[in-house]
This record gives sequence, structure tokens and C-alpha cells, in this order.
Amino acid sequence: MRFVQYVADTSSLLRILRTPESYSRFLERGIIVTPEVVDEVKDSVSVIMLEALRDKIQVLKPSPEAVRKVLQEARRSGDISKLSRTDISVLALALEKKAVLLTEDFTMQNLARILGIRVETVRGKRIKAPRRKMKRCKVCGCVYPTELSECPDCGSNQFEIVWTKAR
Ligand SMILES: [Zn+2]
Repeated sequence: MRFVQYVADTSSLLRILRTPESYSRFLERGIIVTPEVVDEVKDSVSVIMLEALRDKIQVLKPSPEAVRKVLQEARRSGDISKLSRTDISVLALALEKKAVLLTEDFTMQNLARILGIRVETVRGKRIKAPRRKMKRCKVCGCVYPTELSECPDCGSNQFEIVWTKAR
């Protein structure tokens, strides 16, 4: 059986720390977080719990390559402006460790899907389909990536931004 670890974002980690019923489901398999996530844990109860559960919660930095890959996809999907440094670090770590990402943030879920990262939520909430920012040609209606400055079909540079399902 393959051993799957969890990478948690800050709100998921806080939710786990505050609900002892979730310990067996998540902590037994091991949780990894980034130093940025640990820095965001501020309230005294959560800080004490985090210390107490330190042997179950590993703190790791993602590799520069994984961070670069996440930044690249975030720019392409149009999500970059909605992501914090912490969000980027969490996504990169999940990507690098092939871990399951625990997040309830829609932007994070969207990018995780594009990157092929499995997503779960602590509360088991449903995840919406991912979408990608694209251009739609106002002349011929062709939908093409935002990196292109003109329509690959007719050469027009008149476009509107649309959101499409990724893949
Ligand atoms: Zn066109």
C-alpha cells in the first residue's frame, strides 16, 4: 500500500489542531507544512497544540524547482494575483512530495487540479471543477491562451477574457 502524506494550508492545519476527532484521520498518516504556514499560526491554543504534536507534523521547505513550476502555472491560469507567498509554498511542497493537499481555498484547489495534485478538505467539502483564464477572439470566436498576442486562427488582436475548464 502506498503511503500518502498530507500537505496542509494554514486554515486546514488550524482546523485539524482544533478538532481532536480529525487527528486519527490526518495525523496518523503524517502532515507536512511549510515554514510560512507555521509562521501564520498565531493564537496561543494552536501554537501549544502544534508544539505538542510536533512529532506528527513535519516542517519542510519546497525545492526552488517546485516553486518555479507553481509560479509558472499560476501565471498561465491567471491565479497568480490571488495567491500569497504561503499559498505558493504549500502548493509547491504538495507537488514535490506527491502529497494530498488539504485546502478549502478555491484558487488553491483550482491550481492544484491543474498541477495534478490531489485535493481533500478537512471537512470533506466538494471541490468545483478547475478553470483557466483564456482569450476569446471577437472576430472568429476562437479561444486561445493568454500568452498569445493575436488569434492563431484569423490574426485579430480583438479579444475578451473568458474562463474555461482546464483540460
Ligand atoms: Zn480569430
